[in-house]
Amino acid sequence: MKRTVLLLPDQLNLHRGALADSSPADTTVLVIDSDRYLASRPWHRQRIFLFYSALEHFLVELRSAGYQVIKIRAANMADGITQYRNQHLTAELIAGEPNSISQQYALNQYGIKLVPNDFFLTSRSDFQAWANSQKSLKMENFYRQQRVRLNLLMSGDEPVGGKWNLDHENRLPPPKGKSDYPKPRQYEFDEIDEAVWQELATREITLWGDEPDGSWATTRAGALQRLTDFIAQGLADFGAYEDAMPQNSWSVYHSLLTPYLNIGLLTPAEVISAAIEKYEQGGIPLASIEGFVRQIIGWREYINGTYWHFGTGYEKSNNLNADRKLLPLYWDESKTKMNCVGSIVGDVKARGYAHHIPRLMVLSNLALLAGVEPTEYLDWMTNTFVDAFDWVMVPNVIGMGLHADGGKMMTKPYVAGGSYISKMGQYCNGCFYDPKLRVGETACPFTTLYWDFLDRHRAEFFNNHRMRQQYFGLAKLSDLAELKLRAQQVLTGLANGTI
Ligand code: SF4
Repeated sequence: MKRTVLLLPDQLNLHRGALADSSPADTTVLVIDSDRYLASRPWHRQRIFLFYSALEHFLVELRSAGYQVIKIRAANMADGITQYRNQHLTAELIAGEPNSISQQYALNQYGIKLVPNDFFLTSRSDFQAWANSQKSLKMENFYRQQRVRLNLLMSGDEPVGGKWNLDHENRLPPPKGKSDYPKPRQYEFDEIDEAVWQELATREITLWGDEPDGSWATTRAGALQRLTDFIAQGLADFGAYEDAMPQNSWSVYHSLLTPYLNIGLLTPAEVISAAIEKYEQGGIPLASIEGFVRQIIGWREYINGTYWHFGTGYEKSNNLNADRKLLPLYWDESKTKMNCVGSIVGDVKARGYAHHIPRLMVLSNLALLAGVEPTEYLDWMTNTFVDAFDWVMVPNVIGMGLHADGGKMMTKPYVAGGSYISKMGQYCNGCFYDPKLRVGETACPFTTLYWDFLDRHRAEFFNNHRMRQQYFGLAKLSDLAELKLRAQQVLTGLANGTI
């Protein structure tokens, strides 16, 4: 008798998860289109479109490979499964282990058999074993172990080039006057894209952000083209400009592969293999390949591992007692005069994407400095980014961006004033504010709030030896009282959209 695979929409791969080793002769594929899921958030148009259209394309691929595909539209996942079971009384349902804790809980409740999740290079149990063997969850230690385990960029027992991490070479600001960054490929809408977009328009759903404009492929073929483009045009300079924030390129030399890795259209193994092959042909600096490998086998796996390690409840952490509502500027860039924030929110609105430094050092930094309630910001990030899923957003926002977990993940908060953004970006020249000023009408809000944050959170961070320099700087400020007053004005202005 045929088994039924409940296909999860972020597991679009015939060779992974529940579909691995399946054939049309022994497997029926079931998809539940849940109204509740669609109505659960105010989605960025491009994020929800990519998610739905990639699924539809994958279903076409399955049908043309001979699979029977049954799609049920239902009020929610549970109703859809019940409908299917009522029609197929003896069917055994299996699924790949989901990528989210709540979904895993739900599928267990519905009695669905789960097969191990192999969409990552590190199994959940292997990460757990590593985490249990550590005093603190330092990503660098995990990454080194991954390099050895996967035998990547190794020369015997030593890292190629003698150093594990070449990040110090990878912090160049955007070069002045440079305009020839790689231009990301635009993808044509096909009939399936058109149909998906028309169908979404008929559903009960709240949307924001710009309409799909071809920035993101919705097929594996398109994802592979993007991988090829990155290897040819981006990889060589990826490392050096990994943290750069030029104003004239939203993508810089970034791979733009996370949306595809996170829905299964690409696997981390094939991405790494393509990058290493190119490096071995020559012409790619070691700092670039090392930086890229670290993102894939280090950070990405570490984030997934910590998500499962910390488990249920972690997403509600709020150790700094931040209680401010989400700032209006996150929805509407016209609600701020800060050029960096306005430009980046504009980029995010345009295509549901910003690379890791604008996310961390501008958008999240501002939310942390302003004391935005973590779940408010987490929701916005999850609604918005084309590569957003619980496993990636929860640790990135709660642990890394907002330091809301009391330091379980990071030993110090990622906070910075305007000087960091001024050094790594090109926004300050055209800004109403001055990154060097901390008081007065034109003081950079980041700079003012940075010092105010350190002062507000003395109890939490003063004895943190990694923050000694910062508190040393704070002690030398002669205008702290004035700065604190300005910080209150800034916080009020951020809340009412006038800063
Ligand atoms: Fe951003 Fe401050 Fe620079 Fe303006 S001055 S662009 S607010 S960092």
